[in-house]
Amino acid sequence: MEEAVEKSAKLLGEARGVLAFTGAGLSTESGIPDFRSPGGIWDRYDPSDFDFHRIVSSDRAREAYWKMSTEFYGTMKDARPNPAHFALRELEETGRLSAIVTQNIDNLHQKAGSSPEKVIEIHGTAFRVSCLDCGRTYARDAIEARLAAGESLPACDDCSGILKPATISFGQAMPREAMEESLRLAEACDLCLVLGSSLVVYPAASVPARAHESGARLLIINRDTTPLDDLADVVIHDSVGELLPRIVRAAGRFS
Ligand SMILES: [Zn+2]
Repeated sequence: MEEAVEKSAKLLGEARGVLAFTGAGLSTESGIPDFRSPGGIWDRYDPSDFDFHRIVSSDRAREAYWKMSTEFYGTMKDARPNPAHFALRELEETGRLSAIVTQNIDNLHQKAGSSPEKVIEIHGTAFRVSCLDCGRTYARDAIEARLAAGESLPACDDCSGILKPATISFGQAMPREAMEESLRLAEACDLCLVLGSSLVVYPAASVPARAHESGARLLIINRDTTPLDDLADVVIHDSVGELLPRIVRAAGRFS
């Protein structure tokens, strides 16, 4: 392990443009359940009920979706960033972090103090709600207050269109601009840090793959194996919250 930390610190210290790619593993260390894990939210809900096309075509499906989503949002709202989130903020302070591309919707990078303009949320954010018809967005808390007051199917104040949390649901198209920007950053970086992602959800996982294809070095810290492990310069299967802060601190000796 010490050798892997040392090698990682050297990779990080020598890099000039670092792209961090973060996934559910970061959130679980802040107490937010991974919906793909046993005991997660999908043990009590059927994911096929929350397919995008069902949500928009059935009032009943959308009502059930809001109930599930409100429960999940409550957990996220109270979650606090963990040492991995703070380590990324520290890395930004060194001027070598180009961006954080995150699959997470929990706002924890911003809560840890990372600059909002450095955080690209490719699966959207649970902290906003958007109108699927006119595109107007709302603060999540404002819509949650309406739900708590008894509204079951909140609609847009401007156009009466369907409101939905600004996250990407199963079957919903990815935000094109965020994906394109992430791939551009992947091509430009010289080190891609994969943190807490098993790299199984596409097209998100194509971001670190693109970085590798474009010649960037690859450092993966994730509890489980990933399909890119064989291509990586260093792979650590352990807690990102425990290891990343040590690696970021040790990187100073190599920069
Ligand atoms: Zn609208």
